[in-house]
Amino acid sequence: MNVLVINCGSSSLKFQLINSDSEQVLAKGLCERIGIDGSLTYQPEGGEKVKSDKAMPTHTEAIQFVIDALTDAETGVVKSLSEIGAVGHRVVHGGEKFASSVVITDEVKQAIEDCNDLAPLHNPANLIGINACQKLMPNTPMVAVFDTAFHQTMPEKAYMYGLPYEYYDKYKVRRYGFHGTSHSFVSKRAAELLEKPYDQVKTIVCHLGNGASICAVENGKSVDTSMGLTPLEGLVMGTRSGDIDPAILEFISKKEGLDIAGLMNMLNKKSGVFGLSNNLSSDFRDLEDGANSGNNEARIALEVFAYRVAKYVGSYVAAMNGVDVIAFTAGIGENSGTVRSSVLKYLGYLGISVDEDANKKRGEEIAISTADSKVKVMVIPTNEELAIARETVALV
Ligand code: AMP
Repeated sequence: MNVLVINCGSSSLKFQLINSDSEQVLAKGLCERIGIDGSLTYQPEGGEKVKSDKAMPTHTEAIQFVIDALTDAETGVVKSLSEIGAVGHRVVHGGEKFASSVVITDEVKQAIEDCNDLAPLHNPANLIGINACQKLMPNTPMVAVFDTAFHQTMPEKAYMYGLPYEYYDKYKVRRYGFHGTSHSFVSKRAAELLEKPYDQVKTIVCHLGNGASICAVENGKSVDTSMGLTPLEGLVMGTRSGDIDPAILEFISKKEGLDIAGLMNMLNKKSGVFGLSNNLSSDFRDLEDGANSGNNEARIALEVFAYRVAKYVGSYVAAMNGVDVIAFTAGIGENSGTVRSSVLKYLGYLGISVDEDANKKRGEEIAISTADSKVKVMVIPTNEELAIARETVALV
């Protein structure tokens, strides 16, 4: 079956058409600046990537252009819409309602809308994408795959905050965690590579991208993760602060005259390694170049990042009373041997021994620990689109 995987943002829409039997990507692309002017970038398998300007007042036009491109007589990869068997939608927040992926019905759409407060930037956009697809493909089954669902197995002690209970009771203020599709995909693959049953392995997945989170996966279940009610908590990220003393907010607010919106903007957009490096960059390639050429703030940003990752790994070893495998994934985790090496330097006490040559490789599925290392360390490229396609096929 061919599955169209859709990841819809407020003004953008990423797509991949995946053949679920061969797991090959038949075509992929991106619509940008929806509601502003609009452009479509489209690349069929083995073909050229082509970007063209197209007027896209709404997501419906964007999806129509995607369908036109996929079925185009020259550059298309299917003859007609009937060759697309299902659509898998990435949905960011499923709250406590969704512990797994679901076939989309009117009730499901209402439940996703009920979670809008928890992800006001993402869930409304995800719903717009679902509605636009349903309008153009009314007879095609659609599935919602949630970033939060994998973490619904966390125990209370991991998801409750030290706040008045009434906020959980009234508003469901708790840890949800994100990147669940990636943590699930990578931890499953780690067990396969170890040749052990998934339900008998303790894994720590370090998803280190522009957004970054860590997950403790014990016997196939997420038992703790570093992002919280929102993706702001946890690691120091590209531009997000991660964990801070909450009282800093009052302090900075008074000093700088910032209101809540100003503080949230600072924490989400101006902090992380970008802020730490004195606005040099949120991209680790720039930070590594900067640090290598003597930029002190770039060096500090990289050190803070790696130290925070290592501390979380240590805490998850405690949470699971051990670990069999640590897996690095996403843009930084897959590509930066320097970051991996800085993190692993703190973890020698676990009996980890690093294969320095293997660790120099980029973007490959590879073990970077030596054969005698007590804990295996692996780089496992994530593939959230494939994971969404698999979930979709399983449900339809
Ligand atoms: P993601 O959010 O998973 O797409 O990751 C994006 C981030 O990966 C970028 O902002 C970079 O910081 C990082 N990245 C990508 N390629 C490299 C590389 N070759 N070396 C270091 N960092 C990289």
